Amino acid sequence: MGNRDEVRARLRALRKDLLHRRVDQLARIEEELETREVAWEDQAAESTDARLGDSIAVAELRGIREINAALTRLDAGRYGRCVECEREIDPARLAAVPAAALCADCAFASDARLPAHSD
Ligand SMILES: [Zn+2]
Repeated sequence: MGNRDEVRARLRALRKDLLHRRVDQLARIEEELETREVAWEDQAAESTDARLGDSIAVAELRGIREINAALTRLDAGRYGRCVECEREIDPARLAAVPAAALCADCAFASDARLPAHSD
């Protein structure tokens, strides 16, 4: 799984990307809202954007939490091990998703268990 400092640096870089992306998104949403002031009767579109903004924020917050948790596991020497079944997570999966807390099997099972967010 590569050395610990390398993984830590990668996780931190990912977290930084997420935070910066948020700044970009806020700027874009602000821009959109400003251009839409002239067409303020278009409330349906505006609320769609608001929901979109919320779900992006939620997804990013989750991503940042996952990265923080991965950094904690790294310090505890538990990085790369599934938090559910404690098996080693496939290195290919970790390479693709460095903050992965679950092995592919457990991630699939938990996706199937959780209902999709509807609001
Ligand atoms: Zn597992």
